[in-house]
Amino acid sequence: MNTPKKPLILIVEDEAPILELIRYNLEREGQYRIAEARDGEEALVIIDEELPALVVLDWMLPQVSGIEVCRRVRSRPETRNIPIIMVTARGEEADRIRGLDTGADDYLTKPFSTVELLARIRAVLRRIRPALAENIIRFGDIIVDRSAHRVRRADQDVHLGPTEFRLLDHFIQHPGRVFSREQLLDAVWGSDVYVEARTVDVHIGRLRKALNISGANNDPIRTVRSAGYALDDAFKPAPMGA
Ligand code: CA
Repeated sequence: MNTPKKPLILIVEDEAPILELIRYNLEREGQYRIAEARDGEEALVIIDEELPALVVLDWMLPQVSGIEVCRRVRSRPETRNIPIIMVTARGEEADRIRGLDTGADDYLTKPFSTVELLARIRAVLRRIRPALAENIIRFGDIIVDRSAHRVRRADQDVHLGPTEFRLLDHFIQHPGRVFSREQLLDAVWGSDVYVEARTVDVHIGRLRKALNISGANNDPIRTVRSAGYALDDAFKPAPMGA
């Protein structure tokens, strides 16, 4: 598992033909992994468990509506930053939804072309997760070269084992987001591998130690008590000479 996983896109749609059409076209792109949900309840479960890179969310859904799914995703720190493209039916509803502060990142009105949907997905991912489009990612004084598997901090090489590299790569793609140990296990080790949650702590410790080189700023990895770990949003480069 040397290459980062493809981003997971969750499609939430109760109309099977539309769901199939979106799924078919996204899979054909070859850039994404796809998950699907047919109602709001199922969507919330998948969002919680899988933390998708982006959600394509139908507004009219049985049980929990799209707008309620959106509100709940935005209300929790673990899922707050997940981009959402809301799909609405043509007409009044589309106007109404624009007036509501749902927290969706973009809207599409049915019927839409899959070309348009794909363009919107790419645009939202590029805007929110520039990491996906780039091989070299910077966070504070940390530079990750994903294609060369090299990490530099404060103009020095940082030597990381493969697991520490994947951990840092995962964090740097989602700065500020808190990940539980289980979520990190799934993202970095894979869900089909049995590893104890404490193993995550060991590798976080190694990553911290490796990043803590002379001339570097403070520890960028934040421990969130009883929740997990995050690459700290509030991390700021120290002033020169500090
Ligand atoms: Ca619907």
